Amino acid sequence: MLVAQHILDKEGIIMPYCWPEDTGFTRIELAVEERWCQTCGGALTTCDHRHHRVFTLNGPLHLVCKLAHCPTRACPAHPQTLSPEAETAITMPWWVLGWDVVCWLGQRRFARHWSVGQLRAELADTYQIRLSADAIETYIHRYQQMLAARRQAPDQLATAYADVEAVMLAIDGLQPEKGHETLYVVRELERKRVWFAEPLLSSATTEVQQLLVQARIWAERLGKRVRLWISDKQDAFVRGIAAEFPGVPHRYCANHFLRDVAKPVLDADSRAKVKMRRRIRGLRAIEREVLAEQRPAVPAHGAETNPPAPQPEAVARDVVLEYCAATRGILNDDQGGPLHPPGIRMAEALGEVHASLQRNLEAQKGGLLRTDSPVWPATSTGG
Ligand SMILES: [Zn+2]
Repeated sequence: MLVAQHILDKEGIIMPYCWPEDTGFTRIELAVEERWCQTCGGALTTCDHRHHRVFTLNGPLHLVCKLAHCPTRACPAHPQTLSPEAETAITMPWWVLGWDVVCWLGQRRFARHWSVGQLRAELADTYQIRLSADAIETYIHRYQQMLAARRQAPDQLATAYADVEAVMLAIDGLQPEKGHETLYVVRELERKRVWFAEPLLSSATTEVQQLLVQARIWAERLGKRVRLWISDKQDAFVRGIAAEFPGVPHRYCANHFLRDVAKPVLDADSRAKVKMRRRIRGLRAIEREVLAEQRPAVPAHGAETNPPAPQPEAVARDVVLEYCAATRGILNDDQGGPLHPPGIRMAEALGEVHASLQRNLEAQKGGLLRTDSPVWPATSTGG
């Protein structure tokens, strides 16, 4: 049972969605679940209809909510209007999107990192749901609120931490998009959960302190000892944690440390790559040379003969082209971060190519390949 008064008030402050004339709605009638007045026991009667149109992923719905009340004037419940609760399984009373669309938006925004523009285009193209960017942002915000409420629900949290002996907490300020406050996030590392996040206008000690107090209250409510704090060396964190969690070890974040050393490492790596690229030259010239030699005689049109067996020279030319392609791939590979610098991978891979060429040359000296092959001298000078 929902009391309708609150819903009607709420609806009044929301801009109604402007549905195009030709929208094809599926009509669903919803009635109040109770048939009898809970106060006097008399039969409830339908007193009004509320029309609610929403988008779902399966097309637009026209919900007709039959509002009910107790017709007995003497009954204290008489002024109350009741609204069907079934509506809330489809959407919230003042929304223009069904739950399925809201979840679709939230999942794509946060699990797949789609932009609002992408979401908007995909909703319009695939589901014929046309929304403004503002509206999408509003619903993403509602999704976040719902998700946060769910994650922070005390019973959910207690279940998640039932078999955790002590918690490890971390705090960090996330750099916002331009014009927004820094978002301070408190995370717990045993269960890898974001406990809560607050946008703070300043990183002043007093403001940060409030978050640390909140973290202490959460840990106390769970009945868990805090065995470690992790953060960067921001003054507000260092002092605040020492004040609020005396005796709890405070470690500086390895990620921040890594980020600080990553830059010089990657700079040095990048310089090494430039040097290697400068040394490995002439791939194009070798390829051109090989391709120039590789002009096969075109068989007469319609001649249905088996293809001729490849000549040793042709095989050798293919090998050379493959070496060139492999080397070019190695020189263009930029994957990897500071823990796996791309330059080191490049050096290792080039070393393998070099060793492979060396094996070929030694085999050639041993007479396994024809010494009059015109191809090999070209590669060895190129390497
Ligand atoms: Zn009544």
